[in-house]
Amino acid sequence: MPSLNPDPAPSAGADSNDNNNPGSGITAAPILLRTTTPEAEFNSAVFSRVFNQRRPDLSFSIPWQHFRQPYASCKPLTVSDVVACVDLARKEDKRIAIRSGGHSWACWSIRYDSILLDMVDFEGGVGSIRWEPEMGEGVNWGWACEYVVGVDVVTAGLEVLHLSETQDADLFYAARGAGPAFPAVVTRFYMKTLPLLPMWQSLYFFDIAHFKEVQEWLVKLSPTASPTLEIVLVSAFIPQSSPTPTLTAVFTSFAPSHTAALSALTPIHDSLPCAPSTSPDHPNRFCAPTSLPEEYAAQLAGNAAPGFRTRSDNAYLSNDLSPSQIAAALEPAFSTLPTKQSTALWFSMNPTSRRQLPENMMLSMQSDHYFSVYAVWEEEKDDEMCDGWVRGVFTNLENQEGTLAGSYLGDADFQFRKAGGKFWGEGRNNLRDVKAKWDREGRFCGLLEGHEAFGEGIRLGRNIYACETEREE
Ligand SMILES: Cc1cc2nc3c(=O)[nH]c(=O)nc-3n(C[C@H](O)[C@H](O)[C@H](O)COP(=O)(O)OP(=O)(O)OC[C@H]3O[C@@H](n4cnc5c(N)ncnc54)[C@H](O)[C@@H]3O)c2cc1C
Repeated sequence: MPSLNPDPAPSAGADSNDNNNPGSGITAAPILLRTTTPEAEFNSAVFSRVFNQRRPDLSFSIPWQHFRQPYASCKPLTVSDVVACVDLARKEDKRIAIRSGGHSWACWSIRYDSILLDMVDFEGGVGSIRWEPEMGEGVNWGWACEYVVGVDVVTAGLEVLHLSETQDADLFYAARGAGPAFPAVVTRFYMKTLPLLPMWQSLYFFDIAHFKEVQEWLVKLSPTASPTLEIVLVSAFIPQSSPTPTLTAVFTSFAPSHTAALSALTPIHDSLPCAPSTSPDHPNRFCAPTSLPEEYAAQLAGNAAPGFRTRSDNAYLSNDLSPSQIAAALEPAFSTLPTKQSTALWFSMNPTSRRQLPENMMLSMQSDHYFSVYAVWEEEKDDEMCDGWVRGVFTNLENQEGTLAGSYLGDADFQFRKAGGKFWGEGRNNLRDVKAKWDREGRFCGLLEGHEAFGEGIRLGRNIYACETEREE
């Protein structure tokens, strides 16, 4: 079978080998220094493509936020440009911050005294993924990083390396799960591909008053549901003018045939715990055809547009909780969204969460229940109210002993919450060792945690700050 994108076009003026040849002679991208660049131009580079409008105020009006002010900014075009930036950081004793999509909720790429590498123009696109023709199995996708089979990087020591299971395996291990704590610049991912299967979907909308029965129903059915299904429950105002949130239970099937999709979705349709909403705004559907482009479009429409202020947090809930305990734990968040744009989400990870994860991958935190909230608002005056809501949801869960199993890095913000922030499983929180070998001087910014966000301790000792979270676990 063909891969999704078997032969991506090489970047202009370079063949694939240029990646390992920093001296290939391509024009260097300019590095803008804060001290010599007009403020508006510099700040426009610093905030370019940053999704969250709730971002550091780099003026002196809020002193602690001013500490997020970068030293320089660059949009590398080639590996040579990346090497030049890391080299400058070494010479000037600065740090490196990296931006690819700009979607981290806490704006991780805007960092004190750093050189910002904005990868927007890099080798023809962010990520520069090269697909491998090798195929995996068609169901139960698992974690995206399980499909990363190789990574090209530039290290703090200016090495240009290809990482794999057998080449610099410790750094490859960190590349698959360290998230923003990864101590190198990724310039290319090599991914294993899967066959693109047809997709069908059932959608059921329920009044929020039915939360308990709907959530319990989902927790009970997930372990024995077809592993070809993705099962999600979302709370959102649909439409935004409605006075209360609506629940949407989403069942997306990736099955080889309509018959297989029907056999996965029919038992669910036959076991609905209560009547779905009949509002014309709530288009329930059973085993309707869909596609990745349609799902991306729906996701995009559901996400708050860039321009909103956001704060996210999340938790994996313990597998030991009963369906009614899960429902009781989540009901306050699902039923009290702070604004009309905010959402809460429960994602069934079962049965994928019960698999043994590969040993050579740092990503290791999982449970049957992923729960996240996305507070979204428009005006600064609501910052405290929305922050308070997110804080309240998780303080409440933290106070319920045995409820939280850990957190997902990508939806976390370490400035606000570390409790319950167990990001890696037993025996896999050894990032400190990897950093000690590959980034002894703390050249890469790593996790943005409280002490850095508040301007404290940043320059006291470089190799402390990316390791705080692991140390506290
Ligand atoms: C609207 C929205 C929807 C989301 N939906 C999902 C979802 O469905 N599933 C999910 O898993 N997550 C989701 N997230 C979370 C998001 O995937 C993570 O925050 C992720 O880190 C964003 O990556 P980015 O490259 O866009 O962000 P950036 O802010 O550009 O990068 C985040 C960090 O990644 C590191 N990094 C980036 N590029 C490189 C590089 N080339 N080399 C080394 N390190 C690098 C840096 O530490 C950087 O600070 C969502 C976020 C938003 C805003």
